[in-house]
Amino acid sequence: MQLYIAGGCGDEGRNCFYVEGDRHAFILDAGTSTDGFDRVPDISTEQIHQAEYLFISHSHRDHTGAIEYLVKKGFTGPVLMSNQTYRQLHYKPQNTMILDSTAPDLELEPDFTVHWGRTGHCAGAVWFDISVEGRHVFYSGDYRENDTFYRCDAVRGLHADMAVIDAAYSRKERGDDLRRAVVERAESLMDGGHPLLMPVHHYGRGLSMGILFHKVFGEKHPVHMSPKLYDEWLRLGHRKYFVHDEVTELPFSIFQRWDEKTLEPGHIYFLTDAQLSRASSRELIEAHPDMGVLLTGSIHGYGKAQCFYRSGRAVFSLWPNHLTWQEMEDLRAANDMPLVVPFHNKKVKPESDSFVF
Ligand SMILES: [Zn+2]
Ligand SMILES: [Zn+2]
Repeated sequence: MQLYIAGGCGDEGRNCFYVEGDRHAFILDAGTSTDGFDRVPDISTEQIHQAEYLFISHSHRDHTGAIEYLVKKGFTGPVLMSNQTYRQLHYKPQNTMILDSTAPDLELEPDFTVHWGRTGHCAGAVWFDISVEGRHVFYSGDYRENDTFYRCDAVRGLHADMAVIDAAYSRKERGDDLRRAVVERAESLMDGGHPLLMPVHHYGRGLSMGILFHKVFGEKHPVHMSPKLYDEWLRLGHRKYFVHDEVTELPFSIFQRWDEKTLEPGHIYFLTDAQLSRASSRELIEAHPDMGVLLTGSIHGYGKAQCFYRSGRAVFSLWPNHLTWQEMEDLRAANDMPLVVPFHNKKVKPESDSFVF
């Protein structure tokens, strides 16, 4: 079999892999780039026509932005994804196959089966273990063990002839160290009674950080959320499947809905505008020079987050919802994976664009 990297290695976003054997072919994710240019994957029309299935790991646009492009270019096969991913997508492909959580082993064809599990990255995010023509392909999607909110089915003792693994952060630390650093940075920004603004994605790390802040700070630093994120909390907070049991036992009232205007000293505000691309977000920051601004995810080429960061108005402390390089090595060591292609890392690109396995 052969794996082609159509994007996502030494790249900004655009995660997409094409796999082809003698009888079967499929695509793993179809993302666009996050550098502001929305570049589509390097995949030929012939490959698009050849592919029988498209596997989608989760809703983020660096994994889904090019689904519509593939369909327009003539992809007609089923698009496999979880129900939560389907709910979050803007473009919903007609030929969608929803993964059934009661049957995580799916036989697509006699020599083509797929097993999947939760990755702990966001609601709906899954990894795939695909067995095709007697070979095993593992695709981690965006993967995070031990998240404070989302559940992960940790991958252990798995044999894969080809493993494509999240290695987004070129760091030696592990998740716990990074989470601790975020808490310390948040605390120091609120020192002296300042409010704290946390720009986040609509779907993803916001609820994880909120839970940890609630655990660590309690009443001392109440947590408020933009309506969109607060609605996610209401939607997911007591749903067991993608969320830890201990989270579902917490009352909804531990967080408060925020009008995106009112600020109180020492309170924490999650704003669903990760890249600060809305004018209202910029005005809020400029009108409150005493408010701390803490960025915790990738700073992309669009929006004003980058400008605030460069000028020192916003500070950065990475919240882990991917694997660090060290954790990618840990995962490889905990499984039987002779050939690993690390992906989602801006700086690291394998020597070749394709691998035979
Ligand atoms: Zn993601
Ligand atoms: Zn991603």
